[in-house]
Formats: sequence, C-alpha cells, structure tokens
Amino acid sequence: MAIEGTTSDITPLLEANRKWAEECIAKDPTYFSKIAGSQSPEFLYIGCSDSRAHPAAMFSMAPGEVFVQRNVGNLISVKDLNCMSCLEYTIDHLKVKHILVTGHYNCGACKAGLVWHPSTAGVTNLWISDVRDVRDKNAAALEGLPLDEAWDKLVELNVEAQVFNVVSSPVVQAAWARGQQLVVHGLVYTPGTGRVKELIKPVTGNDDGTYSLSAKLKKHCSFSESLK
Ligand SMILES: [Zn+2]
Repeated sequence: MAIEGTTSDITPLLEANRKWAEECIAKDPTYFSKIAGSQSPEFLYIGCSDSRAHPAAMFSMAPGEVFVQRNVGNLISVKDLNCMSCLEYTIDHLKVKHILVTGHYNCGACKAGLVWHPSTAGVTNLWISDVRDVRDKNAAALEGLPLDEAWDKLVELNVEAQVFNVVSSPVVQAAWARGQQLVVHGLVYTPGTGRVKELIKPVTGNDDGTYSLSAKLKKHCSFSESLK
C-alpha cells in the first residue's frame, strides 16, 4: 500500500478498508457484529512499534483476539503509565490468559541502544536508556561479539529483561497472588522470515519451578529473591 506524492487524499486507504471489510463479511457475515459489543481477547501482545512486526498478522489473528501494547523497543516500565494501565486493564478486567512479550531481530531501538550514534533523536535517545541498561548489565556477554551478533543478542536479552519487568510488576504479582491464571511468554520475531520463536520457558507464577528466567537471567535482570 502506498500513496503517490504528497497528496492529502487517502482514498486508496479507504478503498482498501472497504474491500477488506467486505471480504471479511463475505466469509463470515458475523465477522464484525459478533465482537462489536464487547471484547474478550485471550492474549496481550507487548511488542515493538516497528512496522515489520505486526502482531495480528504474525499470529493470524482476527479483530478481537489480541490486545496490543507497542512502543519503540518493546519496553516495559513501572514508570510508564501507558504500559502499566494496559497491564491492569487487560489482566484485571479483560482477564487475558497469555502475555506475549515479543521483540524482533533488526530492531533499531536495540541497535541504537547498543551503539551510540549522534543521529539518534533526543527524546528517542532518552526512551531507549532502558535498552542501554540491559546492555550494560550484560556487558560480559556482549563484549567481543561481532556487531550483528551483539545486536541479535541484545534483542534477546532485552526481551528477557522486559519479561522480568512484566512478571515483577504489581499487577501481575497481584494476579498470581489471587490465583489468576496468567502465563507470560518471551518471544522474538524475525522480519526476514516471518517466524516467531520462544526465547524462554513460559512463566506461570513465582514458584512454579519454570521461573527459569534462570540464574543467568536473574543476574541479568537484578532478580530479587523476595519474588520467590
Ligand atoms: Zn524494534
């Protein structure tokens, strides 16, 4: 999809939308009407805003199946009200069962966090400081690697760190404390192949034995023993 030139006319987009809606209804007349009144998605996807990593497309999901939280670098922070309110709403009210923390290779945020470049814009530079924290905590694992390998490695370490931030968040901790079923996954997407792979075992609670965010990850993420 492209709009030629610098026109303000978005007719091609509206035309594409009309065609898509008609095709969906042709396959299932209730495609939209069945979800118009409410939503009950099973999944919360947390990922990068990168245009190549499109959650509904990569998991072949229809409208209503996945709640989405995206930002540059798929970063989760208790200081980010947007992210925390999204966690609270989807866990406490929508009762999602799975949180898909999904990074992607070739992530510009991770590259900018790995290698300082003066062209990185001011606010963006501030935003990705959390990526730099992940880099610095894992300096030993990254040092000596060729740039491309270090980039891939930082993408993966960043996902693990963000999984930790999700599971240690007050909302997730409260959900597990009251016995709510909630599984947190750490995934990475490859833009060049369209494939997703799991980076860590799914985390189902604080003491289920699969918090195998492992000694290694605990170290990387300054894991607190008090969470056990
Ligand atoms: Zn990215």
